[in-house]
Parts: sequence; structure tokens; C-alpha cells
Amino acid sequence: AKDRGKNNYQFYTDKLHGLSSRKMELENGLRKALEQNQLMLHYQPQVNLETWKIIGVEALVRWVHPEKGIISPAEFIPMAEETGLIVPLGKWVLKKASAQNKVWQEKGYSPIPMSVNISVRQLQEDRFIDSVKQVLFDTQLAPKYLDFEITESVMQNSEKTALILDQLKELGITLAIDDFGTGYSSLSLLKHFPIDKIKIDKSFVDDIIHHSNQGAMVKTIIDMGHNLQFDVIAEGVEEQEQVEFLLKNGCVVGQGYHFSRPLSVEAMEELLIKNNEG
Ligand code: C2E
Ligand code: CA
Ligand code: CA
Ligand code: CA
Repeated sequence: AKDRGKNNYQFYTDKLHGLSSRKMELENGLRKALEQNQLMLHYQPQVNLETWKIIGVEALVRWVHPEKGIISPAEFIPMAEETGLIVPLGKWVLKKASAQNKVWQEKGYSPIPMSVNISVRQLQEDRFIDSVKQVLFDTQLAPKYLDFEITESVMQNSEKTALILDQLKELGITLAIDDFGTGYSSLSLLKHFPIDKIKIDKSFVDDIIHHSNQGAMVKTIIDMGHNLQFDVIAEGVEEQEQVEFLLKNGCVVGQGYHFSRPLSVEAMEELLIKNNEG
């Protein structure tokens, strides 16, 4: 038993070392990616479920690794949050997405808001508001064409967060709760923060087709959202059946593979041009 304990310990520490060196490699790599311009944005349309008209676009970051190819944000955002790299990374995303939206407006496409994911760590950084103001100044994008998506599960119901959100709201930026329904304090967040929009988490939208509860949760969230005067958008819409259910229950905006995957700038522009014509 003693021996086995020792082996287990050995195994455990080896695993730990493996894990931490892989983590360090990833962290150093991401630092380099920021310096060497290996990050890029993809864009996914948010559409009117009835007409397919594009009414917004979400910016989603990608890491184009010189050897590994495209790395998904699910792999590096959590690490970026842990290490604080999310602050410079998030700043880069905000600037890039805002500049892109301004370019689209200058090209004559119908102006639409750009949704940007903001991590809580970023939000609570001391100079966050200043850096947002700086981006607005540098890009000359009107603040109403920016929408910040903040993930509910990590949003803390704190005085400090409320203060920052109030300032963003005052600037004219709209605020959305991302992954709505997955946290434990959804209702209290809606009460204490100046939120404009709730984004129903994909897991609930999935329930519509899997019939786990006949979409009762989605229905409840839509009704509650509208009763409290929030805009409601469904994420992760993949099938026509979901579209029909959402429309029947009063949700008119959605985002998901059914309409489009996240696209490169060029591909997104083609959609925006069609959007202008239609
Ligand atoms: P999210 O904000 O919930 O973004 C939606 C994710 O779902 C995206 O994954 C998108 O590509 C994917 N998606 C959209 N429609 C569908 C669908 O119909 N079916 C399925 N299966 N997936 C769909 P992505 O781009 O890999 O991003 C993952 C997460 O990484 C995001 O989840 C967000 O939390 C985070 N993230 C991405 N970009 C940023 C960023 O710039 N800053 C921060 N802080 N987080 C980001
Ligand atoms: Ca999002
Ligand atoms: Ca989401
Ligand atoms: Ca989600």
C-alpha cells in the first residue's frame, strides 16, 4: 500500500508538471500572439428570425497559431482570464471590432451594433472605462453601435460592477447578459444592473428540439424578459423547429449555425452587402 501511495504520488506530480508546463507554453504563446498579431476576429450575424435581416454582429476572437492553426477561444480565454492576459487581449478585441464596425459604416452598409464579449476580469480593471472611451475616440464609432456581452455565470453582484456598468450605460453602450439562465443569480442581476438585453443560453435553446421540457424554460425566459422590458435574443439556433418555437413564443432575434457560422471579415461583408439589398 505504501508503494502504491508513492507511485500515485509520482504519477500525480508528473501529471501536474505536464499540466503546468503545457499551461506555461500556452501562456507564453498567447503573450507572443498578442505581440505578433496572431489574433483575429470572426463575426457571426444576429438576425431577425422572420426576415433573416441582420440586426447585429458578434465579434469572436481566434488565435491563428503558426504551427497549430486556428485555436478556439474556449481553449485560451479561461487561461487569459486566469493570468490577466485577458486585459490586453480584450482591449485588442474591442479596438479591432469597433474599428471594423466603423469601416462597415463607411462602406455604406446599414449601421448595426457590434457585440463584444467582455470578461469580468476586464470589466473590473481600473482603467477599463478610460480604455473604452479611448477606443470610441480613436475609432470614432458612435457608442450606440457597441453592445457588451457579459457572461452571467461569472458576473458578480457587486457594487463595483454596478458602478462600471452604469458608466458604460451613460456612454451609450448597450449591455447584454450572455448565457442567460446558467448562473444562479439571473434575476438579481437584472434588478441591480442596467441591462438592455438577455441572451438565452444555447442549452435552453437545445431543449426545444430535445423536448426535455418542451422548451418551457425558453418560454419562461422570453416572457419574463419581455415583461421586464428587455430585448431577448436566442443563441445557438441550429434548426428550423427552434425558429418556429421562438417566433411562436415572441422571441424575434436569434443567432446560430442555422443562419450562419462565425465568418471571416470578407465573408461577413458579402452577407452585409446582401443585407443592404434585401
Ligand atoms: P459565447 O460568447 O457564448 O459565443 C458563442 C459561441 O457559440 C461561439 O463559439 C460560437 O461560434 C458558437 N456558436 C454560435 N452559434 C452556434 C450554434 O448554432 N451551434 C453551436 N454548437 N455553436 C454555436 P466560439 O467562437 O468558439 O467562442 C467560445 C466562447 O469564447 C464564447 O462563447 C465566449 O465566451 C468566448 N469568447 C470568444 N471571443 C471572446 C472575446 O473576444 N473575449 C472574451 N472575453 N471571450 C470571448
Ligand atoms: Ca457572447
Ligand atoms: Ca453566449
Ligand atoms: Ca452559451
